[in-house]
Amino acid sequence: MKDFISNKVNSIEISGIRKFYNKVSKIEGAISLTLGQPDFPIPQGVKEGILKAVDMGKTVYTPNAGVLELREEISNYLKSQSINYDTEDICITVGGSEGLMNVFTALINEGDKILIPNPAYPAYEACVKLLGGEVVNYNLDKEFMPNIEEIEKLINEHSPKAIVLSYPSNPTGTILTKEFSEKLHRLLKDKEIVIVSDEMYSALIYDAEYNSIAQYDDIKDKIILVSGFSKIFSMTGMRVGYVCAKEPFFSAILKVHQYNVSCAPSICQYGALAGLKNSLEDVISMRDSFKKRRDYLCEELIRLGFEINEPKGAFYIFPSIEKFNMSSDEFCEKLLEYGKVAVIPGTAFGSNGEGCVRISYCYSIEELKEAIRRIEEFIATHIN
Ligand code: PLP
Repeated sequence: MKDFISNKVNSIEISGIRKFYNKVSKIEGAISLTLGQPDFPIPQGVKEGILKAVDMGKTVYTPNAGVLELREEISNYLKSQSINYDTEDICITVGGSEGLMNVFTALINEGDKILIPNPAYPAYEACVKLLGGEVVNYNLDKEFMPNIEEIEKLINEHSPKAIVLSYPSNPTGTILTKEFSEKLHRLLKDKEIVIVSDEMYSALIYDAEYNSIAQYDDIKDKIILVSGFSKIFSMTGMRVGYVCAKEPFFSAILKVHQYNVSCAPSICQYGALAGLKNSLEDVISMRDSFKKRRDYLCEELIRLGFEINEPKGAFYIFPSIEKFNMSSDEFCEKLLEYGKVAVIPGTAFGSNGEGCVRISYCYSIEELKEAIRRIEEFIATHIN
């Protein structure tokens, strides 16, 4: 029956993140630093919002684009960060994942080219391939920064329909600097191209300002912003995200969303609404904890001889393992087997991830300390 599976589905692989995570669960006593799942409970305000919605029987379909009050509150939240979207530009989705798939479905015809960073969150490439599009990668350098001249060249050569920006980045933790955002704006304002900006981790930026391409009102008609509540409110399983776009994109995305899922889960939308109203303080304290963990990891990894770029956002670090003379796959396999610590091979995020591994620090400081102890022992005993 293998022939019955679509060629497009056959052309993609299950995410390397999940592959490795599944492996770890079979190894007794292993510490997993693999997932992007914050270890904090959902904020009390979010919980109360959900329970209240259940009590009030708000368990039926919501409008396709989502609960109106939530869309209004997102608009206010974004405006407080100089990102101007009105309520009617916002569609609530089933996590950022459905948002991304809807956006690509709304855009891509067979053979359309999409510019995607390498390395990057694996869903971009998978979505594009599933829809019959073609991925054109732009490279990130050793500091995980793209090169504006390369992007311009690729646009001129390939006429891609869209470019994906992903800041703060999973897997590298890089954020969009003011300088690079200005360069992108200068380049993209005169190009016929859609900008898909995935800002899932925008609430998790450490000691730096938050820059977004969506802050430029003069190019708003070509920007589609994807974000959500999975990370900000530690509610990955609740599945609430959102997409912001102007016409004609908004209506196209809403059409896809309607036939995909009708609406995002009702009670979880009320949870997110309560979170925006009452729980932003909790987000700050989560962010402070992540920052402490980041600082701890950076210091320890440097001590153990890893080369790192200090991440400025999200909760991942992407150290180089090149000096250990192993591929990133081999390093991760061996570290899991002999050191009982699981991290993700950089290649799960694209060919340029070779030579790096992704370590997630949404784990307690105790787990991180034990992981570092094991990594140190692994290096001492298994690397000459
Ligand atoms: N975008 C990025 C960069 C992510 O890292 C993730 C999840 O890890 C998503 C989108 C998807 O988010 P969600 O879990 O809300 O579907």
